[in-house]
Amino acid sequence: MTLSLPFDNSYSRLPERFFTPHPPTPVADPTLIALNVDLAREIGLDADALGGPEGLSVLSGNAVPEGSFPLAQVYAGHQFGGWVPQLGDGRAVLLGEIASDGHRRDLQLKGSGPTPYSRRGDGRSWLGPVLREYLVSEAMHALGVPTTRALAAVSTGETVLRERPLPGAILTRVAQSHIRVGTFQYFAARRDVEAIRALAEHVIARHYPEANDPWELLDAVIDAQTDLIARWMGVGFIHGVMNTDNMSVAGETIDYGPCAFMDAYHPDRVFSSIDQFGRYAYARQPDIAAWNLAQFASALLPILGQEKPAIERATEMIHSFPARFGDRWLAIFRSKLGLATEDPGDADLIGSLLDRMASGNADFTLTFRGLADRSARACFSTPEAFDQWAEVWAARAAREKTDEQTRIDRMASANPAIIPRNHRIEAVIAAAVGGDYAPFHDMHTALGTPFADNPDFALPPEPSEIVEATFCGT
Ligand code: AMP
Ligand code: MG
Repeated sequence: MTLSLPFDNSYSRLPERFFTPHPPTPVADPTLIALNVDLAREIGLDADALGGPEGLSVLSGNAVPEGSFPLAQVYAGHQFGGWVPQLGDGRAVLLGEIASDGHRRDLQLKGSGPTPYSRRGDGRSWLGPVLREYLVSEAMHALGVPTTRALAAVSTGETVLRERPLPGAILTRVAQSHIRVGTFQYFAARRDVEAIRALAEHVIARHYPEANDPWELLDAVIDAQTDLIARWMGVGFIHGVMNTDNMSVAGETIDYGPCAFMDAYHPDRVFSSIDQFGRYAYARQPDIAAWNLAQFASALLPILGQEKPAIERATEMIHSFPARFGDRWLAIFRSKLGLATEDPGDADLIGSLLDRMASGNADFTLTFRGLADRSARACFSTPEAFDQWAEVWAARAAREKTDEQTRIDRMASANPAIIPRNHRIEAVIAAAVGGDYAPFHDMHTALGTPFADNPDFALPPEPSEIVEATFCGT
């Protein structure tokens, strides 16, 4: 093989009970749908070779490249609040870690065939979730939200049976790591203190080298999640399945399943077809993050110290989440309003806008984007409600000594013009199933510069185009 990938696998050097060595299952007739050339270069890979026949073999799981140690990771997790003692990579394999420019990144194939953790699943993915994750994760990156990345998408030439036969596909995912809160929980549930310690050391070395002990690790993970969830809120993103096995300890958005960006704002908005009770609704995401972090702290307890003072200290740290989150959320929404200074009334000012957006059925993205050019008003079914608010906002802004243009520029870089709207993603998937990938590529290109005006992709759905539910990414 001339394709050489700079693997340096550290996870596979952890004890054997952390994973099962397992190769991807070959597919019949792979075709490259997309290769993320920019990302390939960024992580030090030869994009030309990756886009050639050998690259295709690797990206489809038909060949295991030199230096790879394919494995399926084991983990556990709370799914919709219910404990599942064993999960794991049921439709993915980790090829290994790419080490370049001082960074280490997981290279994972998703949809690469059954593993010992597949339970009743087929280990495969159909084209829809692969394209959705590709578009949404790359859009999140362009929006400045920490996320796993999409390196490539290939079609397998095989059919996957879901509600009906659908074309199969594989996503190559790049991540800081795929270690989850649920990975810690797996070992905590087995009272495997040695494993928890080894995993914590691994995560510290890999993601938080400045942390001196597990307490500082806990603190750093809380910080990372604080920032991540606040950023989600700032772009109107709903993850949909914030189970503890879908929360990365590195603080990246991971496992894009039935996720979506909101069109019209509502705090109770839910998209996931499996989220019957709205557990993971937009405005509940910070509370759920705190709940997940409490599970993380519990899993760390055996190495934090089981005694009362340790439990009290960990509890205190978890209880600090709302205040820490509140500060971060305020900073993000202040900049969305073009404000640079802090005023005690800011949380109310933002809350009042959001309340009016909810009752005025206002589009989240267009309202914030339209604050700078006064087009926000037209987003409301009740424009007077916006006018009243805008007066208060103008008075607040006037107390800052910045000129208007500076504020407008600030808003233009805090409020995206376009997001991956659900109805467009569905249209992209429908076209791709019919063999036309042009809409996918067009949308991917547009989403690369989300802060540039783009009248076509900015449009919210017509009433007939609204997508009410997204389905699990299987
Ligand atoms: P998710 O809800 O996508 O985070 O997946 C939850 C668990 O189900 C994970 O352990 C996945 O690996 C597993 N899983 C999801 N889809 C499949 C599939 N098609 N085949 C096997 N396992 C799957
Ligand atoms: Mg998952």
